[in-house]
Amino acid sequence: MKNLLALNWKMNKTPSEARSWAAELTERFEEGDAELAVMAPFVTIPTLAANLPAGVGLGAQDVSAHESGAYTGETSAAMLADLGVRYVVVGHSERREYHAESDATVAAKAKLAQANGVTPIVCVGEKLDVREKGEHVAYTLEQLAGSLDGVGADVVVAYEPVWAIGTGKTATADDAEELAAAIRTALEQRYGKRAADIRVLYGGSVKPDNIASICAKPNVNGALVGGASLKAADVLGMNDAL
Ligand code: PGA
Repeated sequence: MKNLLALNWKMNKTPSEARSWAAELTERFEEGDAELAVMAPFVTIPTLAANLPAGVGLGAQDVSAHESGAYTGETSAAMLADLGVRYVVVGHSERREYHAESDATVAAKAKLAQANGVTPIVCVGEKLDVREKGEHVAYTLEQLAGSLDGVGADVVVAYEPVWAIGTGKTATADDAEELAAAIRTALEQRYGKRAADIRVLYGGSVKPDNIASICAKPNVNGALVGGASLKAADVLGMNDAL
């Protein structure tokens, strides 16, 4: 199974900036051992569709929990699929925190993505107080169970401890592996043999100089990268490191 390097731009880059980034990436990109995909703001997706180098996939950062209709401001899974989007991040901690997304909402989004042929990247992970109490494994697995309720096996799971996101505090490779292994076991219980094909990513302050050691862990199959995804040079560095 190839590692997945999922690049989460968050609310950064205009379509023009996305075009420049794609041009810089194209100049030096060589397809290697990892699969790359850009989780882009909706408005940059058509630009990226036309400008990404072959072998780099398209993704989105969110999707509506509703199929279509009177939901002003929402973007449906069918719309994303029509643009050629392959992945969509659901349940990122920033959506859970700032938009009050529950596990049930996350599961509804993941199911609609799958129904439209888009693979959801379901994010889970604990805040600092939970880790300090030593309850991070139980907490994360409960969040996972709720977020995967009714969701099929065509899914990617990203473990992102909230205290490590955008803080420069990376979980150690062993911390990442502890949760990835626990998530893997939960996936096996839920999906049986099909769990072997599910990628478990780590996210939180991943960059060119720590990605290799994290992804070398047996249950970690790639990374969800925020800050270090914004410069094409860093992305090339991470692609080379994998
Ligand atoms: P970061 O963000 O790499 O900037 O820590 C990761 C994420 O939120 O997906």
